[in-house]
Amino acid sequence: MSVQAIPAAIIGDTRVAGDVVQSVYDPANEDAVAQLQEADAAVVDQAVRAAVAGYAEWRTVSVEGRQKVLRQMADLIDTNADELADLETSNTGIPLAQAHGRHVKRAAHNFRFFADYIGQAEGQIYEQDPAFLTLVRRESVGVAGLIAPWNAPIALGGMKIAASIAFGNSCVIKPSEQASLGVTRLVEVLQQADTPRGVINLVNGRGAITGQALVVHPQVDRVSFTGGTTTGKAIMSAAGAHLKPCTMELGGKSANIIFESADFETALDGALLGIFTNNGQQCLAGSRILVQRSIADRFIEAFVERARKLRIDHPRSATVELGPLASAPHRDRVLSFAAQARTEGARVLLGGERSTKFDRGYYIDPIIIAAPSNDISACQDEIFGPFASILTFETPEEAYALANATKFGLVSYVWTQDLMLAMEAQERLESGVVWVNTPMMRELRAPFGGFKESGVGAEGGRACEQFYTREKTVTIRKSRAPLQRLGLG
Ligand code: NDP
Repeated sequence: MSVQAIPAAIIGDTRVAGDVVQSVYDPANEDAVAQLQEADAAVVDQAVRAAVAGYAEWRTVSVEGRQKVLRQMADLIDTNADELADLETSNTGIPLAQAHGRHVKRAAHNFRFFADYIGQAEGQIYEQDPAFLTLVRRESVGVAGLIAPWNAPIALGGMKIAASIAFGNSCVIKPSEQASLGVTRLVEVLQQADTPRGVINLVNGRGAITGQALVVHPQVDRVSFTGGTTTGKAIMSAAGAHLKPCTMELGGKSANIIFESADFETALDGALLGIFTNNGQQCLAGSRILVQRSIADRFIEAFVERARKLRIDHPRSATVELGPLASAPHRDRVLSFAAQARTEGARVLLGGERSTKFDRGYYIDPIIIAAPSNDISACQDEIFGPFASILTFETPEEAYALANATKFGLVSYVWTQDLMLAMEAQERLESGVVWVNTPMMRELRAPFGGFKESGVGAEGGRACEQFYTREKTVTIRKSRAPLQRLGLG
């Protein structure tokens, strides 16, 4: 692939140039695939102004008109799916089959989902006092500032764009500086739909420069962020100074609890999927595997054996199961947790080094450790890679205590065929999502959001409706009875 220029911004349908601030690499071979130009505060301001202008027109478009555009956008994504998936893989190392079959497909689905959702809107009317009719309207809010991470740029960025514009807003999206190729092309593709100019805009650049300028811009009315917890806290503080509502989809350290009553083979398959898909770089990864002691030896042995056989390969290979990590610093960070775990008394059961299969590229072997306690860093910090920390427990009470002993609370996985135990577990676990006997089932109608330091607010049908609209209460007097009259002397 030739080295492309990633524009500093796409404002309306115009590419805007800026200073080149860094190269963007293909994690599979370490080649520079693009040069990233940066939007400074002035360019961000132009993008937001374009969004304000686009909003003035878009907010007046009927539900039917918006549905038509959203469906057109979904079709455009489908038509360009090969190219989008290809760019996503070049920039992130996500296996092409997953980029195509999950990420790009999901992006198109998001637009269709919100097209359907807005057609089902319900309202509220109150008539407690027969002299008055009170109705509650939901209005769009204006310009949404959308900030997306590098681990699933098109899927997560596409979700934010679809949700914000479905409810009549315009948006400015900022992808991650290291993974903006796919989202930049996605925005160009979406611009081909019949929207007013300025409904969708993009700014590229570093978080502290471009992202910060977007968050604090006075004409950005909502901030939707997906990324790390530390960044989320900084963004929420900056937005809070301007009283801007935010949603924060942040990190996780999710417990994957395997009870002795689980269907052994299904739980094993689920545990492998939970930590090794998307090259292990997912917020919802089941990264702490808690196994009941009676089945622990058998489970751990089988888990390690299967992980040893994972097909580490180039992300474009048809049979790849684990591709390269997203960047060299990230690879080094993931590996550093294995070394640290050893010093904290963990047994490294598999991996811990760079993969010897390739000379170039950010490949590592999958890592599995037996943790001596839930307190070590590999059980408390989000590693965001193919790194499973295993702990054992005796009783369900112990499992819940271990699962909840973390600052995070994004998802939990529970594997059991005992219905009462599953019901008890879902009640006791402190996370925004609990998956029972399944890995990663995303139901878009339901909220997806984290408890504790995993987030504030959620994404999903109604959750997005609440975030991207504001309620207005309108009371109309319908009685001819005279008002109390003041000032008559
Ligand atoms: P980061 O927090 O590093 O960055 C996320 C985004 O924020 C990037 O676009 C980044 O830009 C931008 N950013 C950084 N600093 C600022 C700032 N001061 N103001 C505005 N924007 C800023 O996360 P990663 O990209 O490393 O993504 C991985 C993280 O995302 C993990 O912690 C993961 O758990 C989380 N995540 C959460 C999900 C969820 O739904 N809960 C889903 C997927 C991921 P730049 O990259 O250019 O610095």
